[in-house]
Amino acid sequence: MTTTAAATEVSDEDFQEILAQTRSFIRTAVVPRENEILATDKVPDDLRDQAKNMGLFGYAIPQRWGGLGLNLAQDVELAMEFGYTALALRSMFGTNNGIAGQVLVGFGTDEQKTQWLEGIASGDVVASFALTEPGAGSNPAGLRTKAVRDGDDWVIDGQKRFITNAPTADLFVVFARTRPADDAGPGIAVFLVPADAAGVEVGAKDAKMGQEGAWTADVSFTDVRVPGGALVGGSEDVGYRAAMTSLARGRVHIAALAVGSAQRALDESVAYAAAATQGGEPIGNFQLVQAMIADQQTGVMAGRALVRDAARQWVSGEDRRIAPSAAKLFCTEMAGNVADLAVQIHGGTGYMREVPVERIYREVRLLRLYEGTSEIQRLIIGGGLVKAAQRNTHR
Ligand SMILES: Cc1cc2nc3c(=O)[nH]c(=O)nc-3n(C[C@H](O)[C@H](O)[C@H](O)COP(=O)(O)OP(=O)(O)OC[C@H]3O[C@@H](n4cnc5c(N)ncnc54)[C@H](O)[C@@H]3O)c2cc1C
Repeated sequence: MTTTAAATEVSDEDFQEILAQTRSFIRTAVVPRENEILATDKVPDDLRDQAKNMGLFGYAIPQRWGGLGLNLAQDVELAMEFGYTALALRSMFGTNNGIAGQVLVGFGTDEQKTQWLEGIASGDVVASFALTEPGAGSNPAGLRTKAVRDGDDWVIDGQKRFITNAPTADLFVVFARTRPADDAGPGIAVFLVPADAAGVEVGAKDAKMGQEGAWTADVSFTDVRVPGGALVGGSEDVGYRAAMTSLARGRVHIAALAVGSAQRALDESVAYAAAATQGGEPIGNFQLVQAMIADQQTGVMAGRALVRDAARQWVSGEDRRIAPSAAKLFCTEMAGNVADLAVQIHGGTGYMREVPVERIYREVRLLRLYEGTSEIQRLIIGGGLVKAAQRNTHR
């Protein structure tokens, strides 16, 4: 779990400096290169190097392990900046700080942290989170990748799909079943598997709808042998809890990313509406266009407030389950609506490649799918509230 110590690692003053530098990097260095990222399907190496030098591969890793040590309330402020540009930039270091890195931060042994976290925080190591399988996406408890003990080692066999950063990964955080689900739990452990281990095969990068420059691929594990020390936390029962905790934290971050993208779509819409004309009249003078802008602005403001509240509740430990799902559900759906309105405000121009809102429209679609679909967030929120009420009545 994120410790309360992590809540105080970076002072407000220092954080404001990090935030200002990040904002400046995004707006002056990355925004002008968006079409290059789109055309080449790659984040340029010089931007990667700059991000690395700024510590962005490890901003959410504790300082003790070489990171900047930001807590989630600070993380979301950065994420709203990352959302302002091509989402591939954030994706490049998103798994290190987020879903993969947090498994180690929260659940790794000191030895495992010493071995891996410094490299992850510096960006010398790219870590990927390998949970999803064919038939086990929304329901990861049904995963079939197996890990079998052989002497002091574990031998892993199975197939993962849609794994972000797999083509560039140095380390896979792999979830595998060590026994069938039983009363003690779902029987899922998590292992640290170097990408160059014999039997690890990464497929061709997937051709996706959007987020050019962010790469995903299938990963297969065939008789992959890892030492006993690769079992995260040294316990077979850590895996499922580690996945759920890491994903819940990630949901607040994704919600913030959605707010950033929505803000950009809004800014592009306002600028376009103020300048583009029909019959000599700026389209922004038409009240129906103003109404669309008003809905965008309201969504962005509501999303930002919700994200900040959910992050605050995560850091204080008040709510690490319902609030992350509520924030992800609302903000990612909101960003979808705001991006859709942005294309509408741009008219035919909004359907053309290299116009930012066309990219945003495709990019934010993913946010409603990964780290739990909107349906799964509804199940967590609704199911969680009803179960809590039932527990109270049966007390
Ligand atoms: C670009 C991209 C990057 C990704 N990166 C990673 C990664 O790095 N690591 C990783 O492990 N995974 C990753 N994923 C996988 C992602 O988390 C899953 O795709 C997602 O959780 C949905 O699972 P699924 O694709 O199997 O769809 P399904 O679970 O089959 O969902 C299909 C539909 O059924 C609905 N549904 C499913 N179950 C229920 C239910 N019980 N009740 C109601 N509705 C339900 C869903 O909401 C959805 O509408 C990535 C996916 C993409 C597309």
